[in-house]
Parts: sequence; structure tokens; C-alpha cells
Amino acid sequence: MAAAAIATLAPVAAYFGAEAYVERDLQANLQRVATEVLQRIENSVDRSVVTLKEAALRRASTCNLRDREALRVLVFGSPVLKELAVLAPDGTVLCNNIGELVRISPLSELLPTRDPRISLGSVVAFGSEGRALRIVWREQQNAIFGGLVAASLFAPYQGAGATGDRLGIEVNLSEGSALLISRNQGLNGPFDARLDKVSQSLPIKVAVTASRADWREARFWMVILACVVAALLGLVIGALIVISARRADDPMEEMQDALDNGEFIPHYQPILDIDTGRILGCEVLVRWRKPDGSIVPPGAFIDRAERSGFIFPLTLALMRHAAQELGPTYSSRPKLKCGFNLCAAHFKDDAIIADVATIFGASDLRLSQILLEVTERDPLDDIETARSIIARFQAMEVKVALDDVGTGHGGMSYLLKLGVDVMKIDKLFIDALGAERQSTAIVDSLIDLAAHLNMDVVAEGVETFAQVEALRRRGVRSAQGYVFAPPLPGSSFIQLVEAMEPAMHTEPPARVTLRG
Ligand code: C2E
Ligand code: CA
Ligand code: CA
Repeated sequence: MAAAAIATLAPVAAYFGAEAYVERDLQANLQRVATEVLQRIENSVDRSVVTLKEAALRRASTCNLRDREALRVLVFGSPVLKELAVLAPDGTVLCNNIGELVRISPLSELLPTRDPRISLGSVVAFGSEGRALRIVWREQQNAIFGGLVAASLFAPYQGAGATGDRLGIEVNLSEGSALLISRNQGLNGPFDARLDKVSQSLPIKVAVTASRADWREARFWMVILACVVAALLGLVIGALIVISARRADDPMEEMQDALDNGEFIPHYQPILDIDTGRILGCEVLVRWRKPDGSIVPPGAFIDRAERSGFIFPLTLALMRHAAQELGPTYSSRPKLKCGFNLCAAHFKDDAIIADVATIFGASDLRLSQILLEVTERDPLDDIETARSIIARFQAMEVKVALDDVGTGHGGMSYLLKLGVDVMKIDKLFIDALGAERQSTAIVDSLIDLAAHLNMDVVAEGVETFAQVEALRRRGVRSAQGYVFAPPLPGSSFIQLVEAMEPAMHTEPPARVTLRG
């Protein structure tokens, strides 16, 4: 869902993003060109004034031969001035650098600038050369100089597909007369984007115009490219989300990774002799220790593990881990037992027999110390196969217990048919000891049955001394529960065993191997 949304929304977002970028780019270009045009005009005026001042300084205002020669030299040296003239107080041209009088027709009055000595006007001049800016310098009443700058000088370089080609430029004097109109080359309007800028020092306004449709069209590749890149990126991100979601959804994958990382570890809950207080052994209970250090109890994943088949590699990993961890301590205390939980699926075929023989046949934790718990909670598909697997374990000196007795599908039949060595009475019945008469009656009859079938009894989930007392009165000796200890990490359990159970110095065990 999220992946599809990303894959769809990415190109849409990219489209709007690119459109916004194109508009910003347009505004920036309008601003840039307007500023540049104004700068060109202000520079031209500054440079012209320098030359006009120079003419005044040389007093070249008498129009004699020497003065006209001086004017020629000054125009020659000016980068902007086309004509330099001596003017009468009414503005008519008395003489100029060219010799003959240039025909000019004013388009505007002379307008004041911030500097009272300088005034500007627009004129048509130079025949076909078009419009020009007329700059008049009036330092003294009797010495007035005027210069002309071609308006075409104010347009920035255009051509060869430059950005400027697509922009229209208008330069007007403040009273409205046009100085320069450079239309957007080869474009038909509408010129719906426009930026106006006014000079701070001169009576001049600049406007830059563009057509949005044209601007977008010229940058359409950018929008398309952004959409294509975003679509691809969206697809890749979407695919990654789908893949990682699938992976997270797949319990087998996630748990297999955790198993490979050694995140599944055994904890060991001691089983005690309530008559003597001695440790008889332990039950291995799996914990998922996440990389962040948090511990997940089996209730959160055992069901998934059993349904997916992950329980097989998990059980073997726990067996190997326990064999390694407990081996040194258990090898010198041969009476201690270590119980592992198996599930119904383990009793479908005999693969588990070979696995148990391989792991404990060559370890310090011996086959004779192993107790396998088969739960009564889940139904066994094939009682006959289960029965024969249990018998083969027993032939290898491995003990088998029926777990959670009283809670499951088997009723009495599992106890009678499976031929197990140990009965583990569920916490449900232990809780009721001394409280409800009916449950007590069930515990009593289970204990009776165990005695008749020659089974040992382990009471599970013992939480109070009253329960311990009630069990003692009924002749139950083995018990497990929080009243003694919770499931412990390996190092704590080993410490406890080494403190409480003296080591025996025996011959090293004979290695048992599986035959047939
Ligand atoms: P279970 O085999 O009946 O294990 C006993 C559960 O009772 C354990 O829960 C243990 O921590 C808890 N317990 C022990 N004493 C007390 C007590 O005094 N009071 C209470 N309230 N609880 C007590 P845990 O470790 O959470 O395991 C839950 C179940 O998960 C186990 O029930 C077993 O069915 C399953 N499980 C645990 N480890 C494995 C495993 O390696 N393989 C398989 N197939 N199942 C496992
Ligand atoms: Ca158990
Ligand atoms: Ca149990």
C-alpha cells in the first residue's frame, strides 16, 4: 500500500516540483536581465558624462577648428558616445565632432536626473540606426555639451539561442517615451510574465517580459527528466519496501536471520527434589535475545516457529548450545537431567532420533542425562509412530516426559499409550492445590496413575510453600517453579549447580553412537 503510494506519488511530486523550479528560474532570469540592462544604461551615462566633462574642462565650446578636433578625439576615445555636440542654451546643436549636423528628432523633453547638471532625453538619430539616449551636461550657462548613445547598446547580448532571446526588453523614459523595445525573438505572446525595474539615479524604467508557455516548453525536458527519475526512484523505493515487508512478514526468514546471529539462547529452570532441596536438573526454555538486548519469551514466537517448521533447526540449535554450555558441569554430575521441549511435529518421523544421538552421543552432556518433553497440548497425528520413537529414545537411555498433563487432547490415553517415563503436571492443577477440591482430586488421581504406571512426577509452576507442602504430603518429590527459581541464564544456572551439587569424579563417559 505504502509502496504503491510512493511509486505513484513520486512522479506527481516531481512534476509539481519541476514546474515550481521552472517558474522560479523564469523569475530569476527576468530579475537578472532587468538588472543588467539598468546597469548598462547607468554605466553608459557615467562614461558619457566623463567625456562631456572633459570637453567642458578643455573649454571646447567655441566650435572653432581646434575645438571640433578636440570633440573628435574625445568621441574616438569614448566607448559609448556616438556623437558629441556643443549646444546652445535652448538645446540646439551648434557644432559637433562629425562636422555636419546630425539630424535628430527628440522624442521627449529633457528630463532631470539626480545630478542637477545632467539631463536625459530620447531621440531618433543616425538615420536608420534608430533611437538614442541624449545626455546633456550643463556645467556653466555658456558651455553646454550633449552626447548621444545608441539605445541598442543597452540590450544584453542576444542570439544563438541564449536565454535572452526568449526575453523581451523595454526601456522607457519616466515620462513614457520609449527608448528601446526588443521583442522576444520569434515568439508570439502572450507575454504573461513581466518584471519592472526603475533606476534610482536616472529617469529610466526597464521592463523584461517573457511568455510562460514558451519558457515551460523550452524547459519541458527538465520536467520530463524529473518525472522519469522520480518514477524510477519511486519504483525502486516501492520495490524495496515490498521486499523488506515481505521479508518481515515471513517468520521463517526473520527467525532464520536471528538464529544465524545466535539470538535464540537457552535459559535453564532448575528442577528440585523438595524432600532434600537438591537440584535434580533443569528444563531448557528458549529466549529470543534481540540485538538491542531485550528478551522475548517463547510465547511470542513458538507458535509461529512450530507452524512454519522453524522449530526443527531451533530445537537442534538449543540442544547444541546446551550441550556445550552445560557439558563441563554435567559431566561430573551424571545424575543431573536436562529437559528439552519437543512438539507434536517432532514425532512424525524418526529424524529427531538421529539428531539427538549425533548431538549428545559426542558431548559431555550425555544421552542418559537427556529428558525430552512431549506436550499433551497439541494432538499427535500418529500415536503409533510417536510410541515407537519414544521407545527408541528410551533404548538410548534418553528419558521422555509427557508435558502439561491434564490440559491437552490426549486425556488419559496419551499417558497409557505413549509409555513415557515422566509425568509433568501442569501449573493449572498445582495452582488449585489446597484450594478447589475438584482440582485437588485430579492431582491426586494423576499421582495415583503415575505410581501405577511406574512414572516419575514433576510438578510444574510451583509458586508457594503451601503448594510445596501439599506436594510433599502426596509423595511428589520433583518440582519446578518460581518458588525455587525462574528460568536462569546459563552462567547463573551453572553457578547454582556448582554451589549446590558436589562434583563426582567418575570415569569419562563411553561415547554412545547410533546403530541401525
Ligand atoms: P512449558 O514447557 O510448560 O514451560 C514452563 C513454562 O512455565 C515456562 O514458560 C516457565 O518459565 C513457566 N514457569 C515456570 N515456573 C513457573 C511459575 O512458578 N509460575 C509461572 N507463572 N510460570 C512458570 P516459558 O519459558 O515462557 O515457556 C512457555 C512455553 O513455551 C513452554 O511451556 C513451552 O511449551 C514453550 N517452549 C519454551 N521453550 C521451548 C522450546 O525450546 N521448544 C518448544 N517446542 N517449546 C518451548
Ligand atoms: Ca516443558
Ligand atoms: Ca509444562
